[in-house]
Amino acid sequence: MTIKDKILVVEDEKNIAGLIKAILGASGYDVITASGGAEALSMISSHCPDLVVLDLGLPDMEGTEIIRAVREWSSLPIIVLSARSYERDKVAALDLGADDYVTKPFSSAELLARIRVAIRHTRAGLDNTALANSGRFTAGELTIDYNKHQVLIGGENCHLTQNEYRIVALLGKHAGKVLTYDTIMRELWGPQSKGGNQILRVNMANIRRKIEKNPAEPHYIFTEVGVGYRMIEGD
Ligand code: CA
Repeated sequence: MTIKDKILVVEDEKNIAGLIKAILGASGYDVITASGGAEALSMISSHCPDLVVLDLGLPDMEGTEIIRAVREWSSLPIIVLSARSYERDKVAALDLGADDYVTKPFSSAELLARIRVAIRHTRAGLDNTALANSGRFTAGELTIDYNKHQVLIGGENCHLTQNEYRIVALLGKHAGKVLTYDTIMRELWGPQSKGGNQILRVNMANIRRKIEKNPAEPHYIFTEVGVGYRMIEGD
């Protein structure tokens, strides 16, 4: 890393803020901290961090309000780091536009890995859009051929249905990221398609039967229970 990526850590508990700062600093990041929401928003505008690690329970506002405010003008990657482990908190944060959600107590290796993924994604963001209509995505034996609308395993066409292909293509476009059920439904079946997760489950079962060696232990598309699906990162 010649130019250091700058990370803003928003955390009101001093011990935790210090710990995160030490972990990130040791990995070569430039770290700045804010202990409240208003301070965080002003630092985001003035310091232009490359990524934000965000606690949800802050003294002056909810972390979700920060996500909402930032998403009005920026796609800056935000990783929520929270003790709240309820599905509804995760879903709310991801739906508002958080890029990832890590639950406390956290492992430093996991946090660092998720930060690397989120930063890489912003870098690749422009290319990802192009990938939707052309090009290929590969991860191990899996190839998504966006020109031919085919998914292949070891070079063999998996013969996905149109809906199955669209789900895999969308996940491939956002590889490494969790897409919520609602996001997938909205993207593929329009804004009115609410609560039809059953369609997704059925399609995913068929997809896994076609692309996974053992559908019960998927290698390519993972289920984030109660939240959504995530495609493995590409090669
Ligand atoms: Ca807190």
